[in-house]
Amino acid sequence: MEKFDLIEECKDAKTIFISGHVRPDADCVSSCLAMYMYLKKALPETKVKVSLEEPAEVFRCIKGFDEIDSTYAADNEVDVFIALDCEKSRLGEAGEIFANAKKRINVDHHVSNGRGCGDVNYVVPGYSSTAELVYDLFDRQYMDMEIAKAVYIGIAHDTGIFKYSNTSPKTLRTAAELIEYGFDFPGIIDETFYEKTYAQNQLLGRALLESIVFMDGKCIVSAIDKKTLDFYNATSKDLEGIVNQLRVTKGVECAIFMYETGSLEYKVSLRSCKYVDVSKVAAFFGGGGHVRAAGCTINGTFYDVANNISKQIELQMKAHEEENK
Ligand code: AMP
Ligand code: MN
Ligand code: MN
Repeated sequence: MEKFDLIEECKDAKTIFISGHVRPDADCVSSCLAMYMYLKKALPETKVKVSLEEPAEVFRCIKGFDEIDSTYAADNEVDVFIALDCEKSRLGEAGEIFANAKKRINVDHHVSNGRGCGDVNYVVPGYSSTAELVYDLFDRQYMDMEIAKAVYIGIAHDTGIFKYSNTSPKTLRTAAELIEYGFDFPGIIDETFYEKTYAQNQLLGRALLESIVFMDGKCIVSAIDKKTLDFYNATSKDLEGIVNQLRVTKGVECAIFMYETGSLEYKVSLRSCKYVDVSKVAAFFGGGGHVRAAGCTINGTFYDVANNISKQIELQMKAHEEENK
């Protein structure tokens, strides 16, 4: 999809509202804050607002973090709504503001988003991150170190620090360009990606210890229940990275990690290595995502959820075996 002229689309707006998906991850927070900093600089007369559900504290290192409004207050009419890293159904409380905005812009890289949900779209499935897409739209004259740092964090996280298959030569060239701005790139990656609290490590340990492999070791599943989360005084933000650790178990093609969000309700994260399209599996259950990383919410007991998902994965695995006979 062709990119559009961001300044041209926004220059007549009096108010711009930026938001992203519920339970915002690094790419979502970074894209929103980079866009926020950029537009404030490029269009100083315009009122720009950024709203998201409360992000993890580690992202406080990104400039503008304190200006994120988690109450979703849109005082006046919104001229331009910019939805980042998601389609409209995942905007949560911002969904209504999106629906009433005069113009909607959507920038995303989820294959499940189709051609986008805005009046103006820049949706490229398979792209490393929304942060990389957002950077494509920025006029370099307004770039600075803080914007570069935000974009870098988004790209780095969504590529598993430049190692997932969504990392393209262009992604690496973009990262190279960004580090020229001179921020502490090893430091922010340690701080936001690798560093874990004691509770986070305990939860990772428990998830690994209690994991179950099946389908001849090609699948692995684990879960954290509400009781355990409460015991560690933890939230979903403390579970980031667990599914990726499950995925790198030798012989595993597909990893399933879930945590209890309510009575008989689980948020499920799916990852695959080579051939299972997990975005299709997630879409079957009303979720979505990317070919190698996707998610959904499913009702039932742990065993119901695990069984139902496994069936969908097994179908793809069987089809793959047939093709390779
Ligand atoms: P997660 O496992 O929740 O980190 O999600 C993996 C990827 O799938 C991320 O890019 C998410 O944005 C995306 N994703 C997760 N849940 C959903 C959903 N319900 N609908 C669409 N995309 C999702
Ligand atoms: Mn995201
Ligand atoms: Mn993303």
